[in-house]
Amino acid sequence: MARAVFNENQRVGSLDFSVRLMEHLVVPTFVLDAECRVIIWNRACERLTGIPAAELIGTREHWRAFYGEPRPCLADLIAQGRTEEIDKLYTDWDHAGRDAVPAHGRRAENWCVMPQMGTRLYLAIDAGPIYDESGQLVAVVETLRDITAQKVAQDELKRLATRDGLTGVANRRCFDETLASEWLRCTRDVKPLSLILLDVDHFKRYNDTFGHLGGDACLKTIASALAISCHRSADLIARYGGEEFAAVLPGTTVAGALTLAERIRADIAALEMPHPGNDGVGRVSISLGVATVVPDRTLQLDCLIDAADRALYAAKRAGRNRALHAEQIDVRPCRLEIPAG
Ligand code: GH3
Ligand code: MG
Ligand code: MG
Repeated sequence: MARAVFNENQRVGSLDFSVRLMEHLVVPTFVLDAECRVIIWNRACERLTGIPAAELIGTREHWRAFYGEPRPCLADLIAQGRTEEIDKLYTDWDHAGRDAVPAHGRRAENWCVMPQMGTRLYLAIDAGPIYDESGQLVAVVETLRDITAQKVAQDELKRLATRDGLTGVANRRCFDETLASEWLRCTRDVKPLSLILLDVDHFKRYNDTFGHLGGDACLKTIASALAISCHRSADLIARYGGEEFAAVLPGTTVAGALTLAERIRADIAALEMPHPGNDGVGRVSISLGVATVVPDRTLQLDCLIDAADRALYAAKRAGRNRALHAEQIDVRPCRLEIPAG
């Protein structure tokens, strides 16, 4: 490995040079001593944080540049050997780059409030310890990269991947994933899980009357109304396919789900969207099928969907514009035969 050898004069000169190098490095960088006092706060770091080096050198106040209240920075955790706390303090990222972390340093990412700048920034942070010849920790160097733009774009992509392009509610993939995870959660907590499937009545005729674009606009209006009717934070409204939507309702009982289904039906009716082809009603209406289970290992997720689907088609057969619970038509989710033991 290349290594510089200096006489005393050169050594002092090279130290000046190293500090100057660090000062003018284009990467925002600060250095703490082993007692977590700031010994270098470079120009790029001043520009990033809006705090001049003179305010921080010799203090342990560097957190002020990033956070609204005192908390350790990555460099503090490394200086104090508290690396097991890193995951608790840097929770925003998925640690995808962990394998690429240099053996002696750590990497983290998080949102920083940047009090002096008044703008939140998402920073990628690398911090690594510096040891002297005897292996004693003498400093920790922390470098920062502003990756706010990438993070915002990445989050938006993630959000788009779960949204239905036409209506903006959750898409089928998000529905499948949410239902599966809520199934597991309700199994664990021994709580009911309800599902509403709803379908627009005579929607083919709606398209025939108003054209496909008119139909699209109607679906958008219905989706917005559903999101308002169904506002509990645990509930999920999704486009199940075509002119069918679904509501996943964790912790909701038979009675609660049926009450909500009726409210949704009434809210859509109250929109009073003309639909001449909807016999006898003349307005857009929906039919809803509801099912509820307390999931356990004798039940499969498909049985909940199947029960709600059967209730929906019973509602259609019974004349549309109504909500029916699977239990009202005596549909019980079928149980698996589980061998004893
Ligand atoms: P029912 O009351 O029995 O549900 O009758 P329906 O006419 O609503 O049912 P059907 O399944 O016969 O027709 C569904 C229609 O929904 C046909 C299809 O073109 C329309 N549709 C599905 N997805 C969309 C969409 O994204 N936009 C528009 N405009 N129409 C859609
Ligand atoms: Mg349909
Ligand atoms: Mg329909």
